[in-house]
Amino acid sequence: MKETKKFKTETKRLLDMMINSIYTHKEIFLRELISNASDAIDKRHYLSLTNTNIPTAEYQILVEADKENRTITITDNGVGMTADELKDHLGTIAKSGSKEFLEAVEKENTPDVDIIGQFGVGFYSAFMVANKVTVLTKSVNENVAHLFESEGLESYTIEDAEKDDFGTKITLYLRENTEDEDYSKYLEEYELRDLIKKYSDYVRYPIKTWVTKYDPKDDDDKDSEPKTHLELETVNSMLPIWKKNKSEVTDEELNNFYKNKFMDYQDPLTSIFVNVEGMLTYNALLFIPKKPLFDFYQDKNEKGLQLYTKGVFILDKCKDLIPDYLRFVKGLVDSADLPLNISREMLQEDKAIKKIAANVEKKILAELSRILKNDREKYESFFKDYGVNLKFGLYDNYGEKKEQLKDLIILKSYNEDKLVTFKEYLEKMPEGQKNIYYAIGDSKEVVDRLPQMELVKSKGYDVLILSDDVDEFMIQVLKDYEGKEFKSINKDDLELIDEAESKKIDELKEEKKEFLNAVKEAIPGVNDVVLSKRLVDAPCCVSTTGSISFEMERVLKQQNRDVKAERVFELNPNHEMFTKLEGLYNVDKDEFNKITNILYADALLQEGILPDNPKEFSDYITKLILK
Ligand code: ADP
Repeated sequence: MKETKKFKTETKRLLDMMINSIYTHKEIFLRELISNASDAIDKRHYLSLTNTNIPTAEYQILVEADKENRTITITDNGVGMTADELKDHLGTIAKSGSKEFLEAVEKENTPDVDIIGQFGVGFYSAFMVANKVTVLTKSVNENVAHLFESEGLESYTIEDAEKDDFGTKITLYLRENTEDEDYSKYLEEYELRDLIKKYSDYVRYPIKTWVTKYDPKDDDDKDSEPKTHLELETVNSMLPIWKKNKSEVTDEELNNFYKNKFMDYQDPLTSIFVNVEGMLTYNALLFIPKKPLFDFYQDKNEKGLQLYTKGVFILDKCKDLIPDYLRFVKGLVDSADLPLNISREMLQEDKAIKKIAANVEKKILAELSRILKNDREKYESFFKDYGVNLKFGLYDNYGEKKEQLKDLIILKSYNEDKLVTFKEYLEKMPEGQKNIYYAIGDSKEVVDRLPQMELVKSKGYDVLILSDDVDEFMIQVLKDYEGKEFKSINKDDLELIDEAESKKIDELKEEKKEFLNAVKEAIPGVNDVVLSKRLVDAPCCVSTTGSISFEMERVLKQQNRDVKAERVFELNPNHEMFTKLEGLYNVDKDEFNKITNILYADALLQEGILPDNPKEFSDYITKLILK
């Protein structure tokens, strides 16, 4: 029975685009179809390992051209498709990638952008060169074959058909040549061979084409037309790219492999070959995308590397191969030392996987360290997109990874106005500087406004500017770098003034005990009031004590955790405001109360924190002005 079905809307849109595409790289259709064929063989082989009813076969992909009928066929002996699978897989776009692709292209309104094919539009790319496509297929799970046929406009048909062996045969009926486009070239032997070599060389199954061979001539027949016959030849080298040495692989080959496999439209930032032989033998090929891939920020995004054993595909995202903080890394691992029918549960416990994962992590960090050393610009671009992941990695699990990660962190330096490592910060430290100083703020300008900066600046000390939410948590876990403690200019004892001065302030504190207490009493919500050791010109500031800073308070609040930083109101004993306030305290308690609260609210504002009662604050100010 012949059934006619309509394409789903999305599929139709994609098809329209393929058909009307003025895209110049139409040739990628062959790569896409071969890649599907290879996946189908992978699937069949994998099933045959656990299901004895499914026979293995001499796997191959056959690419044939028929000049007379203007057709190209791609035949594989993979899993094949049931009728339902035909409908689900070829009648609908299954992959979210294709949807994203459509959205991206339609938004740009440029259907010829260079991203066709990079999103795994796969099967539909056939319509770039063909006006009719048939798919004859027999699934290893069914005993009947089916024929799918479509002219790529509105609908397709599916009917029962005859086919001896399992697998799929796709026939493309090539379009007629136009002024701009030569479709006939795909019927040429050398053209097909070139395309296979160029795009599909690493496919692990033989891709065969017919090749014209010249018959040897008899001596007495020298002048006659040469006789020819056809022979089937394997075109691809079949050695997976990751089994090769890095030196044998051209950049173009590697980049194409990456883009095709991981659906990126840009070359990767870097690629890493890992080749280990010994007790445990494996290869890994890892990539860092130049920019996070389109699904990186989606909740459903899963980390993981592809897993192969002995060249057979096992799992798309083996999460045990990569730590969370390196979730942006793409790639694959192929090991000869894992059983073929390994299950997800077994993987987690598998010692070999753990060992490989540890080494993969080490290699990635070594590569990052190499880039940091040799190509600063590239590293900074990397860090802009992925730095926060490394910071989380450092913070995670109480700093378990801090030794490996601390030298890969770069933070903005106040003095240098650029990103520096902790090591670079240390190298520039003037003599006598005991600590590493940091401030929280989105930019140099914001930090510059903090009254607490004055003293640090006056000493010529550099300050690291922390602007990511995770930064301060990371610093707390680090505690120190090469023995130099991290000090927050908003929080810690900066140890910046000399001992005599410090002692003087301590003595004064005793003396002014009652007054300081009165200030504390006057301000609701303040935890302590002290004489400041960090101010030069400013009259006062607020700092925090305890382990929670203002920044952490803000971050935790976003996570709905109401944890308050302990506020300390610091008064500059050398400022005339101090004297004035003390004077007021002695003569007009009411006025003293008001002024104290204005000063406190103002100090909070400088930290970017709204006073608890802005209305009251504003009323005070109004009254003050009208006075
Ligand atoms: P993708 O391969 O990116 O998933 P395609 O549009 O190329 O997208 O193919 C859709 C689905 O159709 C595949 O995922 C696969 O399940 C099925 N398919 C395509 N070609 C074949 C084939 N030669 N043999 C078996 N199944 C196939």
